[in-house]
Amino acid sequence: MSTITTKAFVMNSFPWKERHRLLHLLTPDLGLITVLAPASERLKSEIRGATQLFSLSEFVLTEKQSRYSVRSASVIESFIAISEDLDRLAAASHAVEVFTDVARHDEPNRTIYELWAYTIYEISVSKSPVFVARMASLRLMVEIGLTPCLDSCVRCHGLVSEPFRFSFSEGGLLCSREEFRQTQAEWMILSPSTLALLRHIATVSFARLFRFYASPEVLSEASDFADRWLEERMEKRYNRLAILEHNPTFLLS
Ligand SMILES: [Zn+2]
Repeated sequence: MSTITTKAFVMNSFPWKERHRLLHLLTPDLGLITVLAPASERLKSEIRGATQLFSLSEFVLTEKQSRYSVRSASVIESFIAISEDLDRLAAASHAVEVFTDVARHDEPNRTIYELWAYTIYEISVSKSPVFVARMASLRLMVEIGLTPCLDSCVRCHGLVSEPFRFSFSEGGLLCSREEFRQTQAEWMILSPSTLALLRHIATVSFARLFRFYASPEVLSEASDFADRWLEERMEKRYNRLAILEHNPTFLLS
């Protein structure tokens, strides 16, 4: 049995065998791990804050045959604003699902941890937390190599010009010289402003990722693009933002 001290974000938390809890933790060096939080009364009160969903905490874990359990934990940042606002909560839930899907299937990757750190912070403070979650998911796709070709023609690598036609089936822009017989369901036209924003999201440092200004039209177009790119590349439907579309005012009162 060995002891590990690590920072980690709590990505999921659920009851286990009556009294215990299981946590999914995103760590810098071990990737996504499943951890048992034992139900000792002393430990339970001590680690309650540190094991709250979305918290960043420092954990002391014991490891035995790749099974981890919590020995002690202390909260670093609880991001409490997320649980107090429906938009932030939906945004964080969506982003957690995407990041967890990626981290579960990839080798431990410090970049995913760092991108998550910027993302969950921004979701807790941004005026547009849902948009932040969508753009973070798009950047995550780029980080794992599922990069849309936004700089040149995906077929001939030549210059692209307006109208900017993006083919989802081919994964990139098409220049004006390309034959274009696809049905409209397979492509979308990107405005120059939306294309500039998407290029920003795909390339800048994480520290500058969420520093941009965009009109409502651009936010809407970029959201459509990011959702579609995510779902086609991950081959999965993500439904956690749908709760916001049904105007659940009863949840806010
Ligand atoms: Zn071309």
